[in-house]
Amino acid sequence: MTSDELKARIADDGVEFIYAMFVEMHGKPCAKLVPVTAIDDLLDVGAGFAGFAAGPLSQTPADPDILAIPDPASYVRLPWQPNVAALQCDPTVEGEEWPYAPRVILKRALARAAEQDLVLKAGVEVEYSLLAREADGSLRPADERDTSALPCYDARGLTTALDHLTTVSRHMDAMGWGNYANDHEDANGQFEQNFGYAGALTTSDRLIVLRLMLHTLARRRDLYATFMPKPFADKTGNGLHTHLSLWSAGTDEPLFHDDDDPRGLGLSGLAYQFTAGILDHAAGLTAVVCPTVNSFKRIGVGPPDSGATWAPAYAAYGGNNRTQMIRVPEGGRIECRIPDGSANPYLAFTALLAAGLDGVARGADPGDPNVDNLYTLPIDEVRARGIEALPPTLLHACDRLVDDDVLRAGFGTGRDGDYVDYFAEVKRAEFRAVTDQVSPGEVDRYLTLM
Ligand SMILES: [Mg+2]
Repeated sequence: MTSDELKARIADDGVEFIYAMFVEMHGKPCAKLVPVTAIDDLLDVGAGFAGFAAGPLSQTPADPDILAIPDPASYVRLPWQPNVAALQCDPTVEGEEWPYAPRVILKRALARAAEQDLVLKAGVEVEYSLLAREADGSLRPADERDTSALPCYDARGLTTALDHLTTVSRHMDAMGWGNYANDHEDANGQFEQNFGYAGALTTSDRLIVLRLMLHTLARRRDLYATFMPKPFADKTGNGLHTHLSLWSAGTDEPLFHDDDDPRGLGLSGLAYQFTAGILDHAAGLTAVVCPTVNSFKRIGVGPPDSGATWAPAYAAYGGNNRTQMIRVPEGGRIECRIPDGSANPYLAFTALLAAGLDGVARGADPGDPNVDNLYTLPIDEVRARGIEALPPTLLHACDRLVDDDVLRAGFGTGRDGDYVDYFAEVKRAEFRAVTDQVSPGEVDRYLTLM
C-alpha cells in the first residue's frame, strides 16, 4: 500500500486517530496517538519516543529519539474503537532501523530467507485466561461458576462467555483475519480464539493487536485477559501453539507438503530438515519462546487437575500427537507447541526460522516420528532414545541461548553487541527479580523444617 492509498483508506474508514505502535522485548504494545491531520508528518518523519522509557530496546536515557516509521501494510481500523486505526512501526535511530527492535529483527530474518526464495507462513493458537479479581486481591475465573474439573469444550462455559467471544470473533472478521474457531479451553476461565495463518510478520502484527483488543474488552467488563503462561499452579497454562510452513517467495508454492512422504505424515524433505533444525536448537530457542520465569511452570511433565499440561517436556516430534514438542497435525505444516502466551511473536518467529533454516542448510534429518505418550514414557526410556529434556528454568534456557551460534547469528548484532547477549542480560535480571522474592509456599515449606 502506498502512502496515498493509505490516506485514502483512512478517509474512507472515517478514522480520526492513529495508534503508531511498536513493541519492545516483552511484547508490550507501545503507541502514540496521532490525529490524522498529522498523518503526513507521521509517514515522513515517524512518531518520536524516548526508547529507554518504552522498555528493553538497548537504549539509555542519553540516546536520541526513536522515530517509529509506520508500515502501511499493517494498517487496520480497530473495530472496538472505530474512529481509531493502528499502524505497526519500525523503530529507527538517526535514520537507521534499530537492531534491538523485535519487528526490525524479524524483518531482517525474513529478508535473509527471501534471498533463498523462502517465505515463512505462520498461524498461532491464542490461549488466554479471562479472570476477575476478588475483594481480597485473589484472581478467579470471570464466571465464578466455571469450576468444573474438565471444563474443556464445555458448551455451557462457552455459552456463559458467548457475548465476549462473539464480540472478539466479529472484530477479527471486521479486520479481515478470518476467525474460524473459538472454544473454552482446558483450564477454568481459559479460552482459545483462532484466526487464519499468514506471513510471519503479518501474523505477529495481528497477535499484538489481538492482545491489545482482549485487554481492552476485558477491562471494559472490569475483568483481566491474561496471556501469562501459568496463572494458576494447578491449572493448564496459556500456550501459543505455532503452525509453520515454508513457501516459495517467487511462486507462492507451498513447500512442506508431500503426499508420497514415506513416513506417512504428508511432509516434504524440506519440512523434515526444518523440523530437525528446530529440534536441534530447542534448548536455546526455549529462552525466546518461553521468555518468562513463569513460562517454565507450564512446560515439563506433571499434570494439572484436568490431567494433562498439553505442553511439551522434551525436544521430540511425532504425528498427530499432542505430547510432542512438534506435532504434525496434517500434511504441509508443523505445529511447534513450546511457545506460550508470553512469547513476543517477532522474536519467536526469528528463533524458529533461524533454527529451522539451519536444519535445511545442513540437510538434517529428525529421524522417525515418536509415537508414544511422552507424558508417561519412563524417563530412562526417554534418555535411552537420546531425547533431550527442555531446560527447567529461564536461567538454564538463557545459558543455552547464548551458547547457540545459529540463534546468535539469527538475531543479529548492533551498537551494544549481539542481541542474544542483551536478551540474556535482561532475562537473567528478570529471573533474579522474581526468584529473589520469598513466596508463601516457600515460607510454608521452610518455616519450621529444621
Ligand atoms: Mg489450545
